[in-house]
Amino acid sequence: MSQELVCITCPMGCRLTVDTLTDGSLEVSGNRCARGIKYANEELLAPKRMVSATARIAGAGHEALDAIARLPVRTTVAYPKEGVLELLAAIYALNVALPVKRGDVLIKDYKGSGVDVIAARTLS
Ligand code: SF4
Repeated sequence: MSQELVCITCPMGCRLTVDTLTDGSLEVSGNRCARGIKYANEELLAPKRMVSATARIAGAGHEALDAIARLPVRTTVAYPKEGVLELLAAIYALNVALPVKRGDVLIKDYKGSGVDVIAARTLS
């Protein structure tokens, strides 16, 4: 069975055709470079996503302020797609004390994945 994918690793956007072989491995064609093979394997066998969100700031206080006074955060690397909702719940449970500097680690090595959640901007 063939599957069609567009590689999003670079702006070339190669259209990939991926066939699953009898041993379960993937045969990729249409890629202009080796990164397309890596992309197809990750996307079909173990998809991951970068996660960006906002976190509550400690002491923002009023409910209306909490909605607008939030800290942008992101993962340092992509996280397994099937766990993204759980990771988002952990981010939304944060209560970040200021000041915070861009790059400060807010969640270290989430569930032993090697993925950190960091502040995406400086707030004092
Ligand atoms: S296969 Fe290579 S050239 Fe094509 S989109 Fe992916 S990274 Fe870019």
